[in-house]
Amino acid sequence: MESHDRVTHHSDHYDGYRSKQLDKRKYADGADVCIVGAGAAGSVLAYELSQAGLKVVVIEAGPYWNPQTDFASDELAMKNLGWQETRLVEGQNPLRLGHNNSGRGVGGGTVHFTGVFLRFHESDFMTKTVDGVGEDWPIRYQDLAPYYDKIERDIAVSGPDHFPWGAFRGPYPYPVREPISANSQLFREACAKLGMESVVAPLAILSAPFDGRPPCINRGFCNQGCMPNAKYSGLIHHIPKAIQAGAEVLSDCMVTQVLTDGSKVTGVVFQHQGQSYKQTARVYILAGFVVETPRLLLHSATPHFPDGLANSSGWVGKAIMPHSSQDVYGILPEEVRLYKGTPVLALSQHFYETDRDRGFARGYTLNAHGSRPVAMAGSIAHQRQDGTFLWGRALRENMLDYNYYARITLVGEVLPHPDNRVTLSDEKDEYGMPVPKVTFSYGENDKKLINHAIEQMKRLIEAMGGKPAHVIDDTAHLMGGCRMGKDPATSVVDEYGQTHDIPNLFIAGAATFVTSSGSNPTNTVMALAARTADRLIQGMRHREF
Ligand SMILES: Cc1cc2nc3c(=O)[nH]c(=O)nc-3n(C[C@H](O)[C@H](O)[C@H](O)COP(=O)(O)OP(=O)(O)OC[C@H]3O[C@@H](n4cnc5c(N)ncnc54)[C@H](O)[C@@H]3O)c2cc1C
Ligand code: SF4
Repeated sequence: MESHDRVTHHSDHYDGYRSKQLDKRKYADGADVCIVGAGAAGSVLAYELSQAGLKVVVIEAGPYWNPQTDFASDELAMKNLGWQETRLVEGQNPLRLGHNNSGRGVGGGTVHFTGVFLRFHESDFMTKTVDGVGEDWPIRYQDLAPYYDKIERDIAVSGPDHFPWGAFRGPYPYPVREPISANSQLFREACAKLGMESVVAPLAILSAPFDGRPPCINRGFCNQGCMPNAKYSGLIHHIPKAIQAGAEVLSDCMVTQVLTDGSKVTGVVFQHQGQSYKQTARVYILAGFVVETPRLLLHSATPHFPDGLANSSGWVGKAIMPHSSQDVYGILPEEVRLYKGTPVLALSQHFYETDRDRGFARGYTLNAHGSRPVAMAGSIAHQRQDGTFLWGRALRENMLDYNYYARITLVGEVLPHPDNRVTLSDEKDEYGMPVPKVTFSYGENDKKLINHAIEQMKRLIEAMGGKPAHVIDDTAHLMGGCRMGKDPATSVVDEYGQTHDIPNLFIAGAATFVTSSGSNPTNTVMALAARTADRLIQGMRHREF
């Protein structure tokens, strides 16, 4: 008789067990939908599509984490939640890739994200029309509004009764998190002194019990994976519910090739423990995030698609965007204790919309942002904006004052540029796939925005009664690389994520973003995924695929 290994609490294929023989998996003979990547977008799609009765298989490169046994209150150990495989970086401002921007494992980036859960503004979808920069999206805010509503309700987002900026003014489904951290309280008081409005941050973190999960206990390890399950992730919410509805999740399975017959996708190849397998379905959705989705498309080139799949426009891999995410650490006369509480508990979007008097287009969000000590030491040692390094006695002396530091962080819009892109290098990884090369340089507008934000962060630190001490260069989040658009000559997918070139191939996730906005992206990633799911459910019913 075949032996079965128990995998984790709910990563099962058959009644609590996963077959060692992947040939005997649930949908070995074909599924309705095959999703590559179980991150923010993949999790929502798996949930919505399986609830609608479709046979769904999700193939995820990383592990199926168990928060209670796999997570630790340990900054260094939990770096393993990030994507660890080698990537080459270049450009004038090469990105630091890994724990800070990509997830790997069921839940993807949501497992160690900070949980700040914002909507984009109306202007974000039409920057070309409104400000003459970037590009317009093929959708408007109103197209996503019902999906933002649904996602926020489904995961019980906590936030203020009144949100002062953008089209959505609240109230959020769950009340704001209380108490807020000292860093956030000081930030809010400083904002008030300078005439900037601020709010307690909308968060995908519970302020009261929900769905069998407890409210947050404020220990501040959100970027290490939340052990009590108070923070939302696809791992603990959408994926288990999708499995209950019949979906199959194949974790530790890396998709290495998308197979085509010249007009449509016929399967994907994935590897597990050195063995290759094939999965077939009617529709395929690539939700592998900003670097891996373009990489897979480019690597799957055939004589029919010589420049890579879905790439007749030449835009696969192009116009990737991080958020600029400079930090200012300031030293205060009183203790702040940056480790306390959920990292972000207050924010301001006072500088969000374009004001031409500032000398640049678009804007940003400012977050009161906690920091754990190892992260702070690493940043002030070698990510310094002035290019200097802090080490030895000077680093030690600074860190002895750790309890007295406050911190503010930028989420700044970076405009799309085709030269910022993912390409394939000549080096091969352990799967025989070309290692991706990620090129990034800031444009002039991006640099002016960053300088403006740093000045405001310094003013805020001073208004707290402190002195700006360290300005850190960093980026956060990633978007773009397979952007959506109406014109197949200048975009990769349509407004639902369907590729212009291959009808049964969809792309979901942050890769489809046209512009980056000044807001954290995951609410938009998930709302777009829910909208794609609706489109697919209709399409499947009408036998379009
Ligand atoms: C430290 C950190 C803090 C963040 N904080 C916030 C925040 O506060 N608010 C916010 O809105 N956003 C935040 N983000 C960003 C957020 O995590 C991303 O926007 C979001 O996860 C993107 O969703 P996605 O579905 O596109 O990709 P992901 O969630 O990254 O999922 C992609 C998945 O695909 C898998 N995959 C990739 N390639 C393959 C392959 N070939 N085969 C099989 N599987 C594959 C990956 O392993 C991964 O699990 C943060 C991110 C990080 C890392
Ligand atoms: S602070 Fe709250 S959300 Fe963050 S890890 Fe702790 S319990 Fe989870």
